Amino acid sequence: MQNTNEPSFRESVEIMFNRAVALMDLSPGLEEKIRVCNATYTVRFGVRLRGEIKTFTGYRSVHSEHMEPVKGGIRYSMGVNQDEVEALAALMTYKCSLVEAPFGGSKGGLCIDPREWEEHELEVITRRFAYELAKRDLIHPSQNVPAPDMGTGEREMAWIADQYARMNTTDINAKACVTGKPLNAGGIAGRVEATGRGVQYALREFFRYEEDKAKAGLSGKLKGKRVVVQGLGNVGYHAAKFLSEEDGSLITGVAEWDGGIVDPNGIDVEALRSWISENGGVKGYPDGTYLENGALALEEDCDILIPAALEGTINLTNAERIKAKLIIEAANGPVTSGADDILREKGVVIIPDMYANAGGVTVSYFEWVKNLSHIRFGRMQRRQEEARHQLVVDQLEALSETLGHTWDLAPDFKTKYLRGADELELVRSGLDDTMRIAYQSMRKVWHGRDDVDDLRTAAYLVSIEKVAASYRAKGL
Ligand code: NAD
Repeated sequence: MQNTNEPSFRESVEIMFNRAVALMDLSPGLEEKIRVCNATYTVRFGVRLRGEIKTFTGYRSVHSEHMEPVKGGIRYSMGVNQDEVEALAALMTYKCSLVEAPFGGSKGGLCIDPREWEEHELEVITRRFAYELAKRDLIHPSQNVPAPDMGTGEREMAWIADQYARMNTTDINAKACVTGKPLNAGGIAGRVEATGRGVQYALREFFRYEEDKAKAGLSGKLKGKRVVVQGLGNVGYHAAKFLSEEDGSLITGVAEWDGGIVDPNGIDVEALRSWISENGGVKGYPDGTYLENGALALEEDCDILIPAALEGTINLTNAERIKAKLIIEAANGPVTSGADDILREKGVVIIPDMYANAGGVTVSYFEWVKNLSHIRFGRMQRRQEEARHQLVVDQLEALSETLGHTWDLAPDFKTKYLRGADELELVRSGLDDTMRIAYQSMRKVWHGRDDVDDLRTAAYLVSIEKVAASYRAKGL
């Protein structure tokens, strides 16, 4: 439970923003312009369901339009409120700026528990919400482009895209009105895994620098590192899966809404995920130890903690007991500003949300570009690339024959080298590049300035500077 004395999520974001701008030389007017949320639209609409009219409340908040379209997910949760969408919209502004995705920040939410409704009911509700937003250009390929967030996924994005297309039958770019769509409805390979994949790439980049690891009291590689994950949903599941399968990390704890599972020998992520999809939660999972209070898993001894569920889960009530050396904020706002102070004091390194979970918006950006260009990535180059590589291999083989050598290329070298990149490989490569460059921009400030001693402040400094430059260029 979060302490009621703590600031709200939006205030928490503002406190962190203020800490950073205090170190900058922005004019007070510009500082205020960047801080405030431009507009928040609240809609209450009725849908006839189960024989009666049910009223739903939804929001779409636009934080900053220094670049358009604005971008940000749509969340389905009972906890959705104006404060939350405004905080999340602000984070989107800073996130897009940090990873150089050319968007302003926005976010939306619907106050609903998706588990309470049948699929066909959710479709009617989603289409009606999309209609309300689209008719005010709050869903629009060049104005405002939503994406999935907690409680929503490909299915909802496909309904939204279809709803927009029905309302705008002559818009050739209609598919670009929303991202995170299924591949067969204008989506892009690698979007579902993108945020979790980005978390993995972020950790890999962090682990490339001895100096950075040392700040967290860590050393060596990701292999064997003990990782605790909160929330095994889209983001948490993919991060845990890739870290355990590809980097050899041990997932020693998982916290979910109905409890936690801890196992010092490592949890089988696939098995636990299947258990959750079949049983609705982690309770009853046969391996490891079950904790009735899932939040206690966050306090387990581990190297890396990945909060990937809700905001405010690491707060004044538990920050002191967190034992992880490194926290990577896969969720938005999981650490309150008060907890952030305590953890920094304890020497815990926090890789901040605006960077850590930017994989989602990065690949959404690629999807939006794909929709606007109406062509799959790699379609023009792939075979040409293969043909050029074939030339090199042929030449090498001919040369070795002429010289009378028999060169044994490694058995899989030819297959690997000859194969041109498909869309998924290109997307992963673009994501990896984005995560690396953004991390480097943050660490340059982290290590380069005496008045900056954490990555969050560094991230804010980098991103606010770019937003300010956009506003200045516009003459504001
Ligand atoms: P999701 O709905 O797929 O998963 C959330 C998971 O958290 C679920 O498994 C849910 O059961 C669990 N959960 C809910 N309450 C919990 C609690 N009290 N304790 C522990 N677990 C709990 O959502 P998601 O898309 O994975 O999003 C998770 C976080 O990542 C959110 O903060 C979201 O804003 C952020 N995020 C998501 C994306 C994306 O592409 N989906 C992108 C950027 C950021």
